[in-house]
Amino acid sequence: MKIIFLGAPGAGKGTQSDIVSERLGIPTVSTGAIIREAIKNGTDMGKKARSYTESGALVPDEVVIGIIRERLAADDCRGGFILDGFPRTVAQAEALDRMGVAPDVVVSIEVSDERIIARMSGRRVCGTCGASYHTLYNPSADGVTCDRCGGAPLTTRRDGDPEVVKSRLDVYHTSTEPLKEFYAAKGVLKLVEGQEKVEDTTALTLAALGVR
Ligand code: AMP
Repeated sequence: MKIIFLGAPGAGKGTQSDIVSERLGIPTVSTGAIIREAIKNGTDMGKKARSYTESGALVPDEVVIGIIRERLAADDCRGGFILDGFPRTVAQAEALDRMGVAPDVVVSIEVSDERIIARMSGRRVCGTCGASYHTLYNPSADGVTCDRCGGAPLTTRRDGDPEVVKSRLDVYHTSTEPLKEFYAAKGVLKLVEGQEKVEDTTALTLAALGVR
């Protein structure tokens, strides 16, 4: 199954992607995670991407399209995959079409801007393995270190600053939201109302995907 998650930054795409990935046994491909890893490792791509991500802007289409082309060619994507955070522009969606990738379902997680702003301030990420947490909605066992990689400290994301969040929401409404129409026209769009509890959103997401 090929699945795309759409939604504003902080809507819960990453959390739902990881849950569905485990449930269906297909990988999550997150351009945000790949970019953060490249920045951490100081690669050429990371150096190019850094100024964009820190200000809340989108990394140029050709950079993320290159990342996706390479990643989807890997063996583990043959049986299906989940795209989390890609495409984010119509040009990226058209590039995906040209790669011959047609999603079976596109799930848009709907959350109001006000709730997004409140949520983003609680986001935490593991500096070692990139796992995502939230102080309220998805805390790690002790709240300060990572469950997945055995105790690495969690940090706040620099792109969670209120000013950066507002500008990321503007970018979402202007550049990414038109993708709902793009995929609705293909008959694959499903809207899911983001709930306060992760498991409630998961139940609605699995229903939208037709997974029991
Ligand atoms: P995310 O973790 O998905 O919120 O992504 C973090 C940041 O990485 C975004 O704010 C963008 O700067 C960049 N990014 C991730 N995915 C894309 C994409 N598909 N197109 C452009 N920029 C992206």
